[in-house]
Amino acid sequence: MSARLLPVPDQASAPYWQACAEHVLKLPCCSRCNEFTLPPDVTCPSCHSLEPEFTWQPVTGRGKVRTWTVIRQSFLGGFKVPFVLVDVQLDDQPQVRMIGQLLDGPEAPLSIGDAVAVAFDDLAPGVAVPAFRKAENA
Ligand SMILES: [Zn+2]
Repeated sequence: MSARLLPVPDQASAPYWQACAEHVLKLPCCSRCNEFTLPPDVTCPSCHSLEPEFTWQPVTGRGKVRTWTVIRQSFLGGFKVPFVLVDVQLDDQPQVRMIGQLLDGPEAPLSIGDAVAVAFDDLAPGVAVPAFRKAENA
């Protein structure tokens, strides 16, 4: 099995991957309207500013499962199939949608609306990607 591809940070995403390496989820926040977005774009999707001057703010990473899918065949190397991908709406930034692997495994019982919290999957020294784990329903 080939090695899993690693994220390649660029100038726009470097703060995101740096925070992930430290197991902190940081999201870009528009300095004009204080709304979060992901990924950072050249304009702010909330206020449409052309100079959003995003700052990277730590967030809780808690959210609810919007939907999910079970991946049974991977065309990229390094993934142990089957695994579950969850589509998560963040509790504190409901406009932000994140998709990540559910680290609880394919047998974990799962329902729409289940609480999850961000977790980090360490792929290599200094390289981690955000994923999710089930959390207590509030
Ligand atoms: Zn804005």
